[in-house]
Amino acid sequence: MTLMTSWVESANDAEADFPLNNLPYGVFSTNSLEPRCGVAIGDQILDMAAMEEAGLIRLADETVFDVPYWNDLMDLGPSAWAELRNSLIGMLSADSADQATVAPHLVPMADARLHMPLVVSEYTDFYAGKHHAQNVGTMFRGPENALPPNWLHIPIGYNGRASTVVVSGTEIRRPNGQLKAPDAEMPRFGPCQRLDIELEMGAIVGGSTEMGEMISVREADEMIFGYVLLNDWSARDIQAWEYQPLGPFQAKAFATSISPWIVTKAALEPFRTSTPEREKELLPYLQEPGPMLYDIDLSVIIEPEGAAQEVISRTNYKEMYYSAAQQLAHHASSGCAMNSGDLLGSGTVSGPEKDQRGSLLELSWGGKEPLTLKDGSQRSFIEDGDTMILTGHAQGDGYRVGFGACAGKILPALET
Ligand code: CA
Repeated sequence: MTLMTSWVESANDAEADFPLNNLPYGVFSTNSLEPRCGVAIGDQILDMAAMEEAGLIRLADETVFDVPYWNDLMDLGPSAWAELRNSLIGMLSADSADQATVAPHLVPMADARLHMPLVVSEYTDFYAGKHHAQNVGTMFRGPENALPPNWLHIPIGYNGRASTVVVSGTEIRRPNGQLKAPDAEMPRFGPCQRLDIELEMGAIVGGSTEMGEMISVREADEMIFGYVLLNDWSARDIQAWEYQPLGPFQAKAFATSISPWIVTKAALEPFRTSTPEREKELLPYLQEPGPMLYDIDLSVIIEPEGAAQEVISRTNYKEMYYSAAQQLAHHASSGCAMNSGDLLGSGTVSGPEKDQRGSLLELSWGGKEPLTLKDGSQRSFIEDGDTMILTGHAQGDGYRVGFGACAGKILPALET
């Protein structure tokens, strides 16, 4: 696949995140426009509510784009998803005859505010990165017992909070919580001292299953609408005290950030790749009928207050041991009903090398090996005023399918 050229000139740059090949879905507003659906193309946003009102796009009897979420389109199903993408490619391609009618509905991205692109029904976070699980397990339990005995058989997850999933740019307040030092007799309540990121991909479910219904991995893959970058903010010290035996709770519940543009599964199709070779054969219901993972370069950037941005980690989504399709099939396997708008966090994406780790916990090895930044300051965990930024793109031949950024600045904790 090579670059598909558009009459929107800024979309034809080889480094642009949003060429015609991509066409990701977001929600935007301006000083004069209420939040509504938009499609990114180059440095512009195509106002889908206006396109629909002008009769240039119509997918159903009722309008679906004059709302601040993409859930209505998800509910129309995969054939409508394909119809929309084909129509947009036709109208925005360099040889289109529609330029004069479509161009008035473009809004410069620089004039727009971006909002949550969907209503998140429920949020589940998985733990599917083997290097991450191995690193964390080694720190907490030693190298012999690093991977839990179920890990090579089950895509492990926990049910998180949809209520605190926020869009990139939302400031994140350092959480307070119960903390207990290993040698302390009693816990205390106060600001998290070991605040961290988790570099993840978020899969957005676009279909639904009935309670009691089971789906195959192939059906699960067909139900996925698209992907975003996801930062599963984590309070390591709160987690260490609270997590046994039921898993993370308040340590993860205070915030999860996602990037503002939903990159569709169709845009990522050329970048499909297989999960790594299985170390233990999976049970049949989890076996993949084809490549279900994607080759997506990912970076973690830190921007301390008043300082320059600095990349502290680079890795790739293809490092994951389980795909989102496997996770979704497993999620429904007990008969759990799944819904459009469900968000599945992949689990922290870490590569095998030290500078490929997707959390500060791993990068600083639990605080034992702090990072030294270019301004001379050190980081084991996030400090107040730091902005943490995730970026990602799939690299094509002379073009890229980008995700934009998933950023959040840390504010000081509330006084207790
Ligand atoms: Ca996580």
